[in-house]
Amino acid sequence: MSTRNRGSRTDAASREPATGAQAAPDHGSCRLCGTALRRTFVDLGMSPLCERYLAADQLDRMEPFYPLHVLVCERCWLVQLREYVTGEEIFRDYAYFSSYSDSWLAHCRRYAGQMTDRLGLGSDSLVIEVASNDGYLLQYFLQAGIPCLGIEPARNVAEVAVARGVPTITEFHGVALATRLATEGRQADLVAGKNVLAQVADVNDFVAGLRLLLKPRGTITIEFPHLMRLVEENQFDTIYHEHFSYFSFLTADALFARHGLRVFDVEEVPTHGGSLRIYARHETDTARPLTERAGALRDREVAAGLETPGYYAAFGAQVRETKRKLLEFLIGARRAGKTVVGYGAPGKGNTLLNYCGIRTDFLDYTVDRSPHKQGKFLPGTHIPIHGPERIFETRPDYVLILPWNLKDEIMSQMAGVREWGGRFVVPIPETMVCP
Ligand SMILES: [Zn+2]
Repeated sequence: MSTRNRGSRTDAASREPATGAQAAPDHGSCRLCGTALRRTFVDLGMSPLCERYLAADQLDRMEPFYPLHVLVCERCWLVQLREYVTGEEIFRDYAYFSSYSDSWLAHCRRYAGQMTDRLGLGSDSLVIEVASNDGYLLQYFLQAGIPCLGIEPARNVAEVAVARGVPTITEFHGVALATRLATEGRQADLVAGKNVLAQVADVNDFVAGLRLLLKPRGTITIEFPHLMRLVEENQFDTIYHEHFSYFSFLTADALFARHGLRVFDVEEVPTHGGSLRIYARHETDTARPLTERAGALRDREVAAGLETPGYYAAFGAQVRETKRKLLEFLIGARRAGKTVVGYGAPGKGNTLLNYCGIRTDFLDYTVDRSPHKQGKFLPGTHIPIHGPERIFETRPDYVLILPWNLKDEIMSQMAGVREWGGRFVVPIPETMVCP
């Protein structure tokens, strides 16, 4: 008996790594090309889902945290998060209605006009949008008499689109749905996707589906945040579990090329901290060659080193230093007896605060204009969210602006803060007290 026990201990020990050594973690394989993932882009630790705002009665309960460990593929250079949480779980009670933002609607209206002119769209054309949300974009094509079809899996959001007259299919876009639509003869002159590519777990199925939806001479446009801007401007707080992939132009081009599509043009647009709008066509539709600006962007990315490991390796150190600078400022301010509060409750704020470990020990509260967030608490950090008027009641010394991309707009809306000597602070690209 005792001999057998000793024996089994030895067997078990021989299967374990030696004391002090650790087995290499399995990070899975690249969602674009299948190569094993080994290289860290940045590790932001453990974080809750950034849109899971808490009600008061949830504060005393367990809260799920997931890794925010971002990897980069050494073959195709796709920067990516594993699907730690399924899209279904994330978007289960997804209540984001695109039509709530005025500046976003203005961007979409301009896009619809530009595309109509550039592609000569008319009453015999068809525009299909994947992830068409509440019809915020397609409404502008419909107003111009151009037939449209939306694809939107979130039923409550799709219902709003249908109510405003935008025909919408309530399913996930991919090869299965696209094959069915193509068989029914429903292919498009323009296939559009805005801010959806980052949220797709199976990018190959998604792009193969785009190709099936496209008429032989049709055009695809896809918009996504530009990885090079994220790195250059240190926008690590735009990383969250809902965003599975972070694309450079080179990597997006490689993805489309795998599926018989050619990216022939690109525009840099200001939305979401700096995005790319790429234009693609069938490989066989050779009338449209690569534009000068697309070639120039390729060259810029190559020159910046986006096809070399060093480019990605430097990012983690830059992020850690940003954390130290922000904490240094907050510790100094609190030691000096100053009060600090937040402005805004965006998803990016939650990544930043959880990564830096900033709770009510540093920020008394934050404020947000959205009535849906007021009275709730930030996920993970449990910082309370009030209406903006709270700032005028408590007259803090510093206001930390979490949606730094809107800082000019916020500083002008909240200019009254300066009356009692209050100052605005932005955390990104690095902590700065605004003049
Ligand atoms: Zn890859």
